[in-house]
Amino acid sequence: MQNDTRHATTVLVARKILTMNPAQPVATHVAIRDERILSVGTRDDMRQWTDAEPDPTFADKVLMPGLVEGHSHLMEGVVWRSTYVGYYERRGPDGKRWPGLKTLDAVIERLQEAERKMPAGDAPLLAWGFDPIFFGDARLTVKQLERVSATRPIAILHASVHLMNVNAPMLALAGIDEDTDIDGIVCDESGKPTGELQEFAAMFPIYRLIGNELSPTAADHPEAIWNFGKVAQLAGVTTATDLVNDLSDAGMRNLAEVTADERFPIRVVPAFAPQRNAAAGPARVLDAMRRNAARLRFGPVKFIVDGSIQGFTARLRWPGYVNGRPNGLWLIPPEQLVDTFLPFHAAGLQLHIHTNGDEATDVVLDAIETILNRHPRVDHRHTLQHCQMADAAQLARAARLGMCVNFFANHLYYWGDAHYAQTMGADRANRMDAAETARKLGIPFGLHSDAPITQLNPLFTAWCAVRRETASGRVLGEAERLSVADALHAVTLGAAFTIGMEHVVGNIEVGKFADFAVLDEDPLAVPPERLGRLAVWGTMLGGRVFRSPA
Ligand SMILES: [Zn+2]
Repeated sequence: MQNDTRHATTVLVARKILTMNPAQPVATHVAIRDERILSVGTRDDMRQWTDAEPDPTFADKVLMPGLVEGHSHLMEGVVWRSTYVGYYERRGPDGKRWPGLKTLDAVIERLQEAERKMPAGDAPLLAWGFDPIFFGDARLTVKQLERVSATRPIAILHASVHLMNVNAPMLALAGIDEDTDIDGIVCDESGKPTGELQEFAAMFPIYRLIGNELSPTAADHPEAIWNFGKVAQLAGVTTATDLVNDLSDAGMRNLAEVTADERFPIRVVPAFAPQRNAAAGPARVLDAMRRNAARLRFGPVKFIVDGSIQGFTARLRWPGYVNGRPNGLWLIPPEQLVDTFLPFHAAGLQLHIHTNGDEATDVVLDAIETILNRHPRVDHRHTLQHCQMADAAQLARAARLGMCVNFFANHLYYWGDAHYAQTMGADRANRMDAAETARKLGIPFGLHSDAPITQLNPLFTAWCAVRRETASGRVLGEAERLSVADALHAVTLGAAFTIGMEHVVGNIEVGKFADFAVLDEDPLAVPPERLGRLAVWGTMLGGRVFRSPA
């Protein structure tokens, strides 16, 4: 047995092993065999398994469970082919940091620079991460975009990915004019399109032209899957979801091939989005699940019910948007929710349902109650994704319905000031992403980045839920702050539970995959203010080391 390298046993010693297993919270040694955790404890504890000398690589490091990102998108791996024009700094798959752009002129300048680097011709200029909420009333209209090019088609995806700005050549190419009758095409007083396109129906004619670029169909590019894995690994992540997947033949083949490569650093959990592939039903998901392997797990299903709060397309209950903007858009009409959900629910699949505004949360709770009455199921784990504006009564109802919640905690920092002043106002901004209320109610919950919407970095996300500080330093709802221990649980075992993987990942316990985040410091010992900036030395996936570039 000992001579067979497949079943070789290694023992690691660390300064501290934060197991996140309440029955044995800390350890100094962990033994690994067959990619799994064989033993956790002291050197003496594992002598019955092995006499192997401990590997001292991590002797001065802290090991914790590999981080789990329960709501991200493979799209994070494809957007880097386009120009980043976001307000906040971002780190690409190569580790390069892109400074945030603080004015509309800076956005135009970066677009001009990208345009100058492109070969002459009419290949489209594509950009992402644009966030007009930080620029007052100024908008990137077709007029503004003439400063970049009067001839080259341009498409700029907003940070929320629910909206887009395009220029006149792109509108012409897509056949969009004042007579186009599609919800979400914004027009000026004279009835002419401004170039702002809201939600997927309005953006669809553009996507038909630009193909898979800036698109959630990133699994069609093997390179995008690799890039996604790299971005996640840099942040200490070992399991991440792709929460809008088409389950295309090419995409599934690429995912199977890339994740089978032992140099690929994470486990990927793609969720089928029926709204992008209406012809496919539950059978498509059940079929995809036959490809499941240690590093690839199909099964979850994703629905998007409303839009984005900062894009004013989320559906809010009374009293609506504080700046008087009209209520948002339904991406699935409320009266169709039951019929939309029921076939997937009845097939035993798990639903992840995007609801940003509290009105959207309300109609989804109604629909879930109806489908559970018609087709009772134990341990369904249907999960509210984002669930940003839910109040205590809605969360209590989610608890009674047996649901999980995955909160978009990064919003507190990135858009918290905008929510306070411009979208929902103080009362509702202070109860945003109410993780502490969920914890008290016993709701299983995770915290997420929704990358590429915000940076994929669960320790930062945990910091957001612990401190609840906006970019300007305002604290939103101090009573909803999580303890550091609870926030770390939410980005490990909590998130793993929401994707049905708590039996294989999420903490350091015998039998689970040997997936670790390797840190220089103990996240439970540093001041909570520093939690979001802790350096990640690297990760281990199934016992294999992945070193992050310094
Ligand atoms: Zn998302």
